Amino acid sequence: MDCKNCSSLNEKRQFSSGGELTRFIKRLRGYVENGKIVEFPAFTDLADVEDDGSWPDVIECQFGCPDCGTEFTLKVNSHSKKAPEWLPKKGRRR
Ligand SMILES: [Zn+2]
Repeated sequence: MDCKNCSSLNEKRQFSSGGELTRFIKRLRGYVENGKIVEFPAFTDLADVEDDGSWPDVIECQFGCPDCGTEFTLKVNSHSKKAPEWLPKKGRRR
């Protein structure tokens, strides 16, 4: 079952370039501002992630969809070869 609220975020993504990630982070910021998703306390606050790409080496932000309870994690680790990832975790209705 697709949730209308978060269907655009509900797929696992990888970011191959910093530009792509920057654009995505800007979108996330907008979504948090208008209440589409809720930010959870996590290792990193989205507010600490600057738009100019001068990010912390390790980013781990968590969000949730207020409608269906899907949780999302944004993971970036500059020390790792792994591309930055956006990971939805379905289920967990509350
Ligand atoms: Zn949802």
